[in-house]
Amino acid sequence: MPDFLRPTPRVLRVAIPSPLRRLFDYRPAGPAPSDGWHPGLRVRVPFGRRQVVGVIIECRDESELPLADLKPIDACLDDAPLPEDWLWLCRFTARYYQHAIGDTLHHAMPALLRQGRALAARTREHWNVTEAGHADAPAGLERAPRQAALLAMLRQHPHGLVTQAVLAQSFTREQLKALVNKGLIERHEQPVTGGGPPKGPALAEPALPLNGEQAAAMGALHEGLDAFHPCLLHGVTGSGKTEVYLQLIEAVVGRQRQALVLVPEIGLTPQTLERFRKRFQVPVVALHSGLTDHERLDAWEAAANGRAPIVIGTRSAIFTPLARPGAIIVDEEHDGSFKQQEGLRYHARDLAIIRAHRHGIPVVLGSATPSLESLHRARAGDYRHLRLTRRASRHAPARLELVDLRGRPRQGGLIAPVIDAIKTTLNAGHQILVFINRRGFAPTLACHACGWLAECNHCDAHMTLHRQPPLLACHHCDHRRGLPDACPDCGSADLRPLGSGTERTEETLAERFPDIPVHRIDRDSTRRRDALERTLGEVRRGEPCLLVGTQMLAKGHHLPHVNLVVVVNADAGLYASDFRALEHSAQLLEQVAGRAGRSSHPGRVLVQTLHPDDPNLRLLAARGYDALAEQLLEERRAASLPPFRFLALLRLESPRDSDVNELGERVAEATREHIEQRGLNVDCLGPVPAPMERRQNRYHMQVMLGADKRSHLHEAGAWLIAWLEAEPTARRVRWSLDIDPQTLA
Ligand code: ADP
Ligand code: ZN
Ligand code: ZN
Repeated sequence: MPDFLRPTPRVLRVAIPSPLRRLFDYRPAGPAPSDGWHPGLRVRVPFGRRQVVGVIIECRDESELPLADLKPIDACLDDAPLPEDWLWLCRFTARYYQHAIGDTLHHAMPALLRQGRALAARTREHWNVTEAGHADAPAGLERAPRQAALLAMLRQHPHGLVTQAVLAQSFTREQLKALVNKGLIERHEQPVTGGGPPKGPALAEPALPLNGEQAAAMGALHEGLDAFHPCLLHGVTGSGKTEVYLQLIEAVVGRQRQALVLVPEIGLTPQTLERFRKRFQVPVVALHSGLTDHERLDAWEAAANGRAPIVIGTRSAIFTPLARPGAIIVDEEHDGSFKQQEGLRYHARDLAIIRAHRHGIPVVLGSATPSLESLHRARAGDYRHLRLTRRASRHAPARLELVDLRGRPRQGGLIAPVIDAIKTTLNAGHQILVFINRRGFAPTLACHACGWLAECNHCDAHMTLHRQPPLLACHHCDHRRGLPDACPDCGSADLRPLGSGTERTEETLAERFPDIPVHRIDRDSTRRRDALERTLGEVRRGEPCLLVGTQMLAKGHHLPHVNLVVVVNADAGLYASDFRALEHSAQLLEQVAGRAGRSSHPGRVLVQTLHPDDPNLRLLAARGYDALAEQLLEERRAASLPPFRFLALLRLESPRDSDVNELGERVAEATREHIEQRGLNVDCLGPVPAPMERRQNRYHMQVMLGADKRSHLHEAGAWLIAWLEAEPTARRVRWSLDIDPQTLA
C-alpha cells in the first residue's frame, strides 16, 4: 500500500533510554513524517517527569493499556527513519545480550542523535570556477587585478576550494562575491566529510604484488564477494595480512560498496590510518574516541549515506550504518578490547559475523594468534581457514628462549645473562624491547621486618608503587596515597619495593647504560596520544635504544630495528584462576615476540620465568602459539568450557556483603528449580565470591549458567532476569548478566 494511503497507527511502541527491558506505548501526535509512521523514527516523549528521545520500534493499533490512557508524543524528530541495518543490528544485540532495547539504541547512536539533533552532516562552502570563468579572457577583470589573481588560483583547483583556503591566501569575501556576480565562479555547500563516492580510480599508490600465500588467500576472498563468507586470516606477525585487507577493500570499493574495518583500541594509531589513507584516493573515515560529537555525527552520516567508502574504527564502530555494505574486516580479532566490559556487554567481533551474515557479505577475522573461539570454528569448517605462514620479509618469526629465574639475583627484574645479551645487542647497534606486564615502579611496597604489604583500603588488592611522583596507587579503584615513612604494622623503616614494574626496570637500565636513551612506554608515560607517537617516531629512526613497555607495545606497532625482546616475567597468566588467562598470556607473548627481527636482522626473544618446566610454556617456546592453541582446545573440550560450551555470568554487587550473598543464594535456587521444571540442559553454579571479592568497598558475587545449546542458555538467562526484575530485594543490589563472558573477574 502506498504510504499516503496508510492510515495513521493508533499506537507507537517506543524504546526509551532506560534500563527497563520493555517498550512504552504512546499516541502519535503532531504533523506526521513525510513518509508516514515507521519503526526507526526518533520521537520526543514525556517519560516520568522528564522529556526523552526514544525510537519507534513498532506501529500498531492495540495496546495493553486503554488507548485513552496513552500519552501523546511531543514531536517526531525525523522525516525518515534511522538506517534500517542499524536498527536491525541494535534489535539483534538487545535480544542476544538480553539488554534493554532502549539502552542498546542509546549506546549505539552518536551523542548528538541522542540529544535529538537531526541526522545531517555539516557542510562547508566551496568555490568552483564556472564555464565562463574558464574562458580564455574572462570579461570584467581588466581593472580588478586581485579578482583576476583569485580566479587564476581557483582555476588551478578543479575540485574547488573551501572559503578558509581562499581567505588564507589573503583574498577577501568581497572579491569572491564580485566574481560570483560576474558569473565567473559558483558557490556550493559540500559535506565536511567529502563530496561523494569516488569518481576516478580508488588507488593512490599501487598495490604490492602478492606472494603465493597472500594470493591464495586473496583468491579465496574474491570467490565470495557477494555472499556471507566468513574467513579466518591466520598469519604470523608481518606475514602481510594488512596487505590482504587493503586489496580486499580495493575490490569492495571498486564495486561501489563500503568496507568496515574494526581494529583494537590500541591499534587505531596515526600510523595505521596513514597506511590506509596513503593507499586510497577515496576518503577513509576514522571513528575513534578522540572525535568531537560533531565529527562523530558527520562520519556516521557519511557512512549511512554511502559517501564514506572506507570506515575504520574501534569496538563501537560495529554500530556504524552502511548504505552499501561490501565487507567487514576485524583486525587482531583475538583482542580483548572488542568486548565491552560494562553496560551493554557486546562483542564487536561476534556482531561483525552476525552483521555480515545479515548483509550477505564476506567477513575477515585476522590475527597472528586467533582466539580459541575462532580457531574452533575454522576447524569445524564454519569459517574458511586462510593461512599465511611466511613473513613478507622472509625471516622466520623469532622463537622464545626460556630463561630460568630461580635462585638468581635480579637487578630491576633482570638477571645477569639477560643484561649481557642487552649489552651485546646495543653494541651491535640494535634496539631492545623490554616487556613488562605491569605499570608503575614495582607491584607494591613491602615491609622486610614483618611482611606487611601495602593494600588498598577499598579493594582486595595491593597498591602499586609509583616513583614519579612518589605514591601508592590502586589500579582497580584509582585510590592514591603518599608513601609511609615506616611500616604501619610494626614501625620498621625497612620498606622495600617488591617485584618489578616499568619504572623500576627503566631506572635500572638507565643506570646500567647511561649513554643509551631509555624510553618508557606505558599508560602513565603516554597519557597524551602524541607523546606515544613522538617516542615511536624517534625509535623508528633506528638509533640504538632501550624501550621499556607494557601491553601498549605488544600490539600493532612496527618496530623494525628491534632485534632483542626481553620478557621480564612470563608467569602472570600461567596459574591464574580464569580459564582464559593462559590463552591470553600466550597471545600476548607471541605478539611481543613478533616485534623482534622484523627487518633484515633475525631477532631473539628471551623470556624470564620462575617455571621453566611448565609444560604449556615449553610447548609455546618449542612449537609456537598454534601448537599450544591446539592443546588448549583439547583441554577446553575435556573440561566442557567455551568454545565447547556456552556461558552466561550473573554478577551481583553491593556495599553490603549480606545483600549479595542472600540474593545470590535465592536467585540461584530459583533458577535451578526453573531449569529442572522446564527440563533445560543448563547448569547453574554458585553463588561464589568473585575473584576479587571486595572492590571499591563493594562486594561481588557470581552465579554461572552453562549449556551446550544456546537456546537453552538464553531461556534460562531470560528467566533469571525476569526473576530479578520482579524481586524487591534485588533493587538493593547492582546486577548484570554477561552473555559469553570474556573473563570471570
Ligand atoms: P601483518 O599485517 O600480517 O603484520 P603487514 O601487511 O603489515 O603484515 O606486512 C608486513 C610488512 O611486509 C609491511 O612492511 C608490508 O609493506 C610488507 N609486505 C606485505 N605484503 C608484501 C608483499 N606482497 N610484497 C612485499 N612486501 C610486502
Ligand atoms: Zn612491618
Ligand atoms: Zn582499590
